[in-house]
Amino acid sequence: MILDGKVTSKALLQEIAQEVGRLTGPTKPKLVAVLVGENPASEIYVARKMKVADELGILSELHRFPAHTEEAFLKEELEKLNQDTSVNAVLVQLPLPKQIHTERVLQTILPEKDVDGFHPINMGQLLLGIEPPALPCTPAGIMKLLDAYKIDVSGLNACVVGRSNIVGKPIMLMLTQRNATVTLCHSKTRNLEAVLESSDLVVAAIGQAHLISGNTLKRGCIVVDVGINRLPSGQLVGDVDFESAREKAAFITPVPGGVGPMTIAMLMMNTLRLHQVQQGIQVKNWLL
Ligand code: NAD
Repeated sequence: MILDGKVTSKALLQEIAQEVGRLTGPTKPKLVAVLVGENPASEIYVARKMKVADELGILSELHRFPAHTEEAFLKEELEKLNQDTSVNAVLVQLPLPKQIHTERVLQTILPEKDVDGFHPINMGQLLLGIEPPALPCTPAGIMKLLDAYKIDVSGLNACVVGRSNIVGKPIMLMLTQRNATVTLCHSKTRNLEAVLESSDLVVAAIGQAHLISGNTLKRGCIVVDVGINRLPSGQLVGDVDFESAREKAAFITPVPGGVGPMTIAMLMMNTLRLHQVQQGIQVKNWLL
């Protein structure tokens, strides 16, 4: 069965739009995206985020800075957004140019406006099993997608391939919290195939086209493909070879149309939740 991120995210976005429409307070949720430089992929991602926000009635602004921007200057700009009470949610589009230290910049955003959930306080809470209002969007989107298909990960052997701070590590924590037994693999893992062969759930977040093929997967497993890779032909593909993997898997996400749309939907959900928290409204935990 295909885990359809397009259909699932559409339903989620409709719910968010309805909630935004129901807000009676003086302010609407407002999201600010900060983009440094002219990375073509980042331009596309950020434009999509702004467009979806707009469609939901969420206010959005894009703050652009040139590629040669100094770290100190960028931090000052983020401090201004921290102080601005009309702004509920702030994100810095990654990757940042080389002269800027990503972690130091992400730590500048106030935890309560950290819509990507990357601040050490929010990540630390996730580690401790305390749900922050905004969870990292891609892994949270994966969990929502699994929930939508009523997939219970409790007791499953899960293999996460890739240990990035934005996907691999937080999805490891979320799956652990939901009682999966997680093995975190990466470029130095010896014999990845052996881990994959015994895994009931595989999350691939590597960034290499078709690195995982069906013959290494356990029959009946669940495959979540986070990778976005462009082939020389221009085609977008995941880290998993979809055609061979679908022969083995019980559930699989397509690329595109799987994890990607869920990520944007979670960004919108996080924006709404941060707005609610800042208005003194209690938000319900959904993950932990
Ligand atoms: P990254 O690019 O920071 O790191 C890649 C990870 O893969 C590293 O941890 C590395 O150890 C591991 N790796 C590399 N080669 C490997 C190998 N041969 N075997 C096992 N592990 C290996 O990771 P990222 O930022 O999480 O991005 C991964 C992919 O996910 C990229 O294609 C990215 O574009 C995509 N992505 C998609 C979304 C989405 O919304 N769909 C969001 C974030 C990232």
